[in-house]
Amino acid sequence: MAKKDYYEILGVDRNASDEEIKRAYRKLAKKYHPDVNPNDKEAEAKFKEINEAYEVLGDPQKRKQYDQFGHAFNGQNGFGGFEGFEGFEGFGGFEGFGQGGFGDIFDMFFGEGFSSTRRSANRPQKGADLRYNLEITFKEAAFGAKKDINISRLEECPRCGGNGSEPGHDPQVCSSCNGTGQIKYAQSTAFGRFVNVRTCSKCNGEGKVVTNPCTECKGKGRVKKHRKISIKIPAGIDDGQTITLRGEGEAGLRGGYPGDLHVYISVQPHELFKRKGQDIYCDIPITFAQASLGCELEVPTLNGKVKYTIPEGTQSGTVFRLKGKGIPSIRGYSRGDQYVKVNVKVPRRLNEEQKKLLRKFDEMTRGSEYYEEKKSFFGRMKDAFGV
Ligand SMILES: [Zn+2]
Ligand SMILES: [Zn+2]
Repeated sequence: MAKKDYYEILGVDRNASDEEIKRAYRKLAKKYHPDVNPNDKEAEAKFKEINEAYEVLGDPQKRKQYDQFGHAFNGQNGFGGFEGFEGFEGFGGFEGFGQGGFGDIFDMFFGEGFSSTRRSANRPQKGADLRYNLEITFKEAAFGAKKDINISRLEECPRCGGNGSEPGHDPQVCSSCNGTGQIKYAQSTAFGRFVNVRTCSKCNGEGKVVTNPCTECKGKGRVKKHRKISIKIPAGIDDGQTITLRGEGEAGLRGGYPGDLHVYISVQPHELFKRKGQDIYCDIPITFAQASLGCELEVPTLNGKVKYTIPEGTQSGTVFRLKGKGIPSIRGYSRGDQYVKVNVKVPRRLNEEQKKLLRKFDEMTRGSEYYEEKKSFFGRMKDAFGV
């Protein structure tokens, strides 16, 4: 039997907005709701159809798939089926519709906040993730380090093994909800009677109550512990990166997995170096005479000072590359380079004798043969002004 188009079922256009779809769904769901149409098989079928359509079109992801593949996608993704829903039973033989649909219709009748509470009972729950901000030096980032950090976290109580009861006692099945964690009650509304479900307040939805609470955790099953954790910082890590230690977060509940510990790395700035990826940069001031005559410079690197000879006539702003003096790659295959920029500084506060010498020197070196840049500059000026 060919399935009807979901858009047709909800009576909306293919380009309908999420809001329009929601509105159409609510209107139809209200009209065909089994409690408004008791013993009406046709309305019931229609209601199911509406919910099925909305379960898909009301979810942007599923809607996209539906638009692309049509009904074919139902089978492969396995969300087409309708599961029974216990909170809504016993009226007119109606049973079961999708979760999303139910949550929505429930909001419509009773306001929000219902559907989330009923799911928590008795399920294992993963422990919370923890975040730690760790500041390291530039060098530690470059070469790696071992760091100890102190954290406090909830761990499974060693005395009771997490179940909250004194050794020799077991948690008892809750007498209020018979272990289901939920209390059902009937409620009358304008649309008829509903069986409503709320979380059992005696056991907080756990289904069991601790009658002899563990003396160490007071029945909570987890205790706060201070821990020193060793972290291996890999060489090459950069500012803003994260190291995740699986399972080092807080303990789970009811056998759930522990959370993770995320260590956020921030790298202190270096007084000489700047980093860009695996390369590092530094500026070195030199005198006019050094630049002109060439000289041997002492260049700071991450591994200490090295000697580097700059040639005669080096211009200010020239960048030299020191191969392999940068940061190791975090995967350990390669190492970046260091770029050294020389900046020629002009001397200040000269005395009379120095000025005299400098004037003399200047007179002797006015010729453009000494300054390639000067030559081309004046050449271009001549081209521009014809003078
Ligand atoms: Zn305990
Ligand atoms: Zn209970």
